[in-house]
Amino acid sequence: MPLPQFLLLTLALVPLACGSSTSQTPATGSGNAASAKIAFDEERAWKDLEYLVNTIGRRRIGTSELQLSREYIRKQLEPLGWVFEEDNFECKPPEGARRKGTITGTNLLARWPGSAKGEVWLASHYDTFDRPKFIGANDGGSSTAVLIEIGRQLARADKKAVEGPAITLVWFDGEEPFYPVPWDDYTNSTFGSRHLAKKLDESGKILDIQALILMDLVGDKQLGLEIEKLSTDWLGGVIRDTARKLNYEKHIVGNKEIKDDHRPFLALDVPSIDLIDFKYPNSFNEYWHTADDQLEHCSAKSLGVTGRLVLGALPAVIAEAAKQDPKYRRQVWERRRQEKED
Ligand SMILES: [Zn+2]
Repeated sequence: MPLPQFLLLTLALVPLACGSSTSQTPATGSGNAASAKIAFDEERAWKDLEYLVNTIGRRRIGTSELQLSREYIRKQLEPLGWVFEEDNFECKPPEGARRKGTITGTNLLARWPGSAKGEVWLASHYDTFDRPKFIGANDGGSSTAVLIEIGRQLARADKKAVEGPAITLVWFDGEEPFYPVPWDDYTNSTFGSRHLAKKLDESGKILDIQALILMDLVGDKQLGLEIEKLSTDWLGGVIRDTARKLNYEKHIVGNKEIKDDHRPFLALDVPSIDLIDFKYPNSFNEYWHTADDQLEHCSAKSLGVTGRLVLGALPAVIAEAAKQDPKYRRQVWERRRQEKED
């Protein structure tokens, strides 16, 4: 779950519970000729989503179901040449949570080497909220499925490096807070992304990440994505331009401020964006974190729009990232590390 800013305001007053593609499906119903040229098999992504929801079920941090989710993702992409890494971390549910003790979470990363320096990250969280009967078809499921299909599409048949920076796909664990304790930026949410951003900051590898595109809640039947307010301007510009070119403008509806897995990276100067629908089926977002977050409220078409939007934006993201000044980020990083040591 991401936490929207308007809920944060409420919180102050009231406690809140709360490549080489192998196949292509034409973009139907929305989009145009340009979007139809972007290979993304939304029916295959839908099958991934169905598997996650119907075959695996709830997919909470530190459970065998999340292990099955990792195995499923790896089975789809490892044979195509993606190189996987599992990044384990420990977290403790806060007092009052249903889950107890120390829980091991696992971020799942898949890498494709590039001919140039740097990495572009495409991301989702794959854990689901710990509320009873919550299955997370949209929240946790949809973006996980889109990212799997993006991985299929970006894989090169010859398994050689891609032109430009390396591509990293990341499925973050522990985005969700431990139920029923409310979201807290530092003690109850984004466990995996906070862990990974901190680890990479300490080693300096965070400087290799030229851009991070996060997707969350991208599968509902009336897709209206926010370009989250604090997202990096130039990434927002690239996504808006791409949406215009693909005739997806109607799917970009606003720029609400929402807390999500991009924030720990943004805080460490990684250009980052969060694409998220937080207005389904209406502005009350009432299926969110309830038993109503089901496949019947999601559509393959929305998975297709999101997948094509991200894949369509990728060349411009890479081109724009290459124009950014890495020296400035390094200086800021060195200063920050120095301050930590002092
Ligand atoms: Zn959630």
